Amino acid sequence: MEINDTHDPNRRSWVESANLAGTDFPIQNLPLGVFSNAGGTPRGGIAIGDRILDLAAAVETGLFRGDAEDVARAAMEPALNSLMALGNDAASALRAAASAILTEGSADRGKAEPCLVPMAGATMALPTRIGSFTDFLTSLDHTLRMSPNGKSPPAFDRIPIAYHGRATTVCVSGTPLVRPRGQFANPDGATAYGPEPAQDFELELGIFVGPGNRLGEPIAIDEAGAHIFGYCLLNDWSARGIQFFESTPLGPFLGKSMMTSISPWVVTTEALVPFAAPARPREPGKEPPEHLTSTGNQVGGGLDLAMFADWSTEAMRERNAPAETVVRTNFRGTYWTPAQMLCHHASNGCELRSGDLFGSGTVSGPTPESRACLAEINEKGARTIAIGGETRTWLEDGDEVSFRAKAERDGYASIGFGACQGRVLPCFASGGR
Ligand code: CA
Repeated sequence: MEINDTHDPNRRSWVESANLAGTDFPIQNLPLGVFSNAGGTPRGGIAIGDRILDLAAAVETGLFRGDAEDVARAAMEPALNSLMALGNDAASALRAAASAILTEGSADRGKAEPCLVPMAGATMALPTRIGSFTDFLTSLDHTLRMSPNGKSPPAFDRIPIAYHGRATTVCVSGTPLVRPRGQFANPDGATAYGPEPAQDFELELGIFVGPGNRLGEPIAIDEAGAHIFGYCLLNDWSARGIQFFESTPLGPFLGKSMMTSISPWVVTTEALVPFAAPARPREPGKEPPEHLTSTGNQVGGGLDLAMFADWSTEAMRERNAPAETVVRTNFRGTYWTPAQMLCHHASNGCELRSGDLFGSGTVSGPTPESRACLAEINEKGARTIAIGGETRTWLEDGDEVSFRAKAERDGYASIGFGACQGRVLPCFASGGR
């Protein structure tokens, strides 16, 4: 995918809110999502400023023509799996058409204006029917801080390490996290069963699979980018007490499966072309294996994306105090690129399907402010954290965490992702609701 007219920083929209400085959704972004309003059926839409272009209405009124109409029909479904199966060239045709329709001076404005829905009144749904969810481990700094011996595991330099997550409990932003109940080791070493005492978040990038592969057929590293449809923000909520007790030797299970949150807008691979970054340079002897290496991936497989986590307590919100930003990090420092994750995932012939979701792993960097989960910030529970005049070690009931991201580069319009937000609710009484 290359830079084209849709990335032109001088392009403005007749939707005025899309031209405001700081908006996540200028005309250069045009992310896709699934929404409903006024009790209507969920359907595909494109974010523009503080509005959603209703693709079902737009198709109905004849706004899309030719190839773009076929793609828009796939994109107007109640899930974006069919669209993602069509691949990035199809998404590019839809993007070019939507950009032309929404550009200042467009002759289509009169037909398009009735197809706009205020974002504030819409309910967002999951963007795809997520058949499978995989969570990776891509930050060296996260790995070192979380490691029992301060070293990365032997395989870390050779493979993007991952585990199979729980697809059915991936929820859209805004869904509250009910504190899980489970087994964990108390400080005295005795095992207890009860409300999770060490509830954490992990700031990650979500990655959606485009066309995918057939069972048994790997995807070459140079082809891998064409199978990445787009990105969202992902909160891999982590119950550390449960996780640390259960994870040896098979990895996380109940410590992660209670819920994963994602932001509702899928920022396409093409929208992020201006923000491509080199893959992280490796120390001699720690280079990735040949089948996960290519010139294209080395030059532009990374992504320059600033990512943030904001935290508020119930008391802060009661006095209208703003949330405090507790994580400031960037995806470009990660050890593995999304294309390497996808290539590795399919390398044994595992079938990846359109609309499947990957989590990048916690996007932590080397600086204190770029520690992207509480277990790193509080040094696995050893230190307290000051937040809004209160003291925390882990998330307490009523605490709210919200992620945001911004891609910025000189000469291009900045684009954002919208929010991935969730509030922690007390766990149910033992035995059910
Ligand atoms: Ca994770």
